Parts: sequence; structure tokens; C-alpha cells
Amino acid sequence: MAEDNRLNAGEIAAADFERGAADPVAGFPQQIEHAISNRLGPAEAQRMELAERSGLRVWLAPWYSSSHWYVDNRHEVKFEWDEKAGEQKFIRSMDLIRRIQKNPSGRLSGMVYPAQIDTCTEELLRASAAAATELGVSLTTHAAQSVMEFNLMVQRHGKTPIQWAHEIGFLGPSTILGHAIFVDEHSWLHWYSREDVKLLAESHTTVAHCPTVFSRYGQLLEDFGRYQRAGVNLAIGTDTVPHNILEEMRAAAVLSRVAAENVFTATTEDILTAATIGGARALLRKDIGALAPGMRADIVLVDLLSPSMRPTRDPLRSLVYAAADRAVKDVFVGGRQVVADRKVLTMNHDDACAGVEAAQIRMMEKVSKLDYAGRTIEQIAPLSLPH
Ligand SMILES: [Zn+2]
Repeated sequence: MAEDNRLNAGEIAAADFERGAADPVAGFPQQIEHAISNRLGPAEAQRMELAERSGLRVWLAPWYSSSHWYVDNRHEVKFEWDEKAGEQKFIRSMDLIRRIQKNPSGRLSGMVYPAQIDTCTEELLRASAAAATELGVSLTTHAAQSVMEFNLMVQRHGKTPIQWAHEIGFLGPSTILGHAIFVDEHSWLHWYSREDVKLLAESHTTVAHCPTVFSRYGQLLEDFGRYQRAGVNLAIGTDTVPHNILEEMRAAAVLSRVAAENVFTATTEDILTAATIGGARALLRKDIGALAPGMRADIVLVDLLSPSMRPTRDPLRSLVYAAADRAVKDVFVGGRQVVADRKVLTMNHDDACAGVEAAQIRMMEKVSKLDYAGRTIEQIAPLSLPH
């Protein structure tokens, strides 16, 4: 994706967060990095400007890796390694994080982000963990996010992705794993050990749970309630459109009950805790994630008169299972209003939408040249109603 497209997508995502977020503060480090900050390069300054202008609290996580994966057939993922380039990008990312931490708004933070456990060398992952400790910021990567990755890590190291992460000192209270779905006990894997969830809990690692995007592929974390009872810190993120944390909370609750075949596995309060305090904990913050004296005044006002919030005996239940963002009226971040009467005040949503529309047309023109099999857009992503 070209730089201007990324920025447009970032602007839309940020506006969506404001309109759709129950709490635009905690609980979703993952999608912020995906939406706004996932490349080093000339647009770094623009990304920081966008993050600042959004009025949100934003954790920018510039990613790097020792390899990139690609496909040239339908059945195999291949890796192209360039360890030197990975180290150089790592150094640049740490410089960028230092600059982000100095941003005068006080709302921007950095996060150390080696992209995936399977695309980085052990040395780079160890250096990343050490850098996060030195900088006093969170550390994130993708791990246990697919069956293929699980099998690959077992082939490479003789261990599950989580057990290997533990062995190399990557887990800990400042570590956030997206998405930790394929842990050893997942029913699809038929693996022999039952260690992974315990390791996540004992190391105080956070799992960034983004249920919607995976459930679209028929994949479930098994299950939110089970992880929670084992003592794992859970946070909730979006990682896809719509960037709607309230709908994501609903998906987390419903899908956990489907996975557990048990309505009692996770309560609505458990889900709210993950989306707020769980996220704040992952971000190493004690001043956000709750409404209490001394906290940062990140506040969402919900219209109780909205039809989908009625009757009003249990407003949280109505908000999560029925109303979602339809009832969100005003949003404040650090006491500053960013949404007033359902309108985003800080960003130009319409212009950014027009920008991504134009970007999609440009992308469709190029897609055959970029695809290994030279397929058209109609072949790769047929319309839902083709005729
Ligand atoms: Zn992800």
C-alpha cells in the first residue's frame, strides 16, 4: 500500500475508534499499530502528526523483522531472510520510539514491535525484549496466530511458539502477544503438552484478543474464559474493519461461549475489564482504563435514551449486545472532547474515505502484476453477488 493510502486508512481507523470505541484508550494496542504506524519510512513524521491530531492516545509501534514471507504457489509459505536489514530497521525503530516518547502532546507512546515470532531471529527477539526494558515501554509481536506458524516453530525449535518465546526470555509483564490462539491445547492441533496457557499466566504476558478478524476465517481462541481463569491478562483489539471496540467486545463474549459450549465461561464484566483495565495493564499504565479520581479523564458518554439502550436496567449489557456505537454520543480524551453529539471533531473522515476509494482503484489495476499467479481481482476476491 502506498504511503498516502496508509495515511488515509489510518485517518479512517482513528475516526472509527473515536466514534465506535467504548474507551478509546486502553485495550487495543494491536490495531493502532496496524492502522497508523506499521512502516518505517518517509511518512513517519506524517504518521506522528496524524496520531497527534487525532486527539486519541496512540501507541505507535514501528515494526521490523529479519525476513519477509511470500508465496509463489498455493500450498507453501516461504521466507526470505536478511538479518542485517532487520538489525538496521530495529535500530531505526528504537530511535523513532525515543522521538515518539518526547512528543509534547503527552498522548503518544512507542512500543517495540518485532513483527512476527516466525519472521525474526532469536537474536533480534532477545534484543527487542532488552530494548523494551531499557526504554520502559511495552513489547509486542504476533505469535501462535496460525496452525502453519505453530507447525513451523515446532519444526524449527522442537517447541510450540509460546514455549519457545518463554525459553528465549520474550514473555513478561510488558509483553503483548497478538493473538495466542493456537496454544498447545487448541483442539485443532492435537498436541501433547498443556503448558502454553500456564506460561502466559505465570509470566504475566498479555494476550491481545481480536476475535472478529479470526472468526471470519472460522478460527476461535479456545476460550477467553479459560485463559482468564488460568490467570492470563487479556486485552481486546480490532485488527480489522470495522474498528469498533464495542462490537469486538460482543464478539469476544459470544465466541468465547461458542468455543466453550458454556454460557457461563465469560461474563460481560469480564469482557469490559479486558477492554479497559486489561489493555491499560498491557500498556504499563495505571492512570487510564478506569473512571476514578486521579485518572486521565478518558470518558465516553452513552445516550441512554437511544432505542437500542432501552430499557435501561443494565446499560452495559445493552451497550455491548445491542447498541454498540449507535449509542455513543460524546468522547473525551484527557478531558478534551474529540466526539461531540456523534461527530468526530479532530479528523476529516470524508476526505480520507475518498482517498481510500481512489487507492482501491489503483490497487485493482496493479493486482495481476503483483500476484504470483497473475490473477485478476475478480479471481482473487470475487464480488459477493457476481451476477
Ligand atoms: Zn494481527
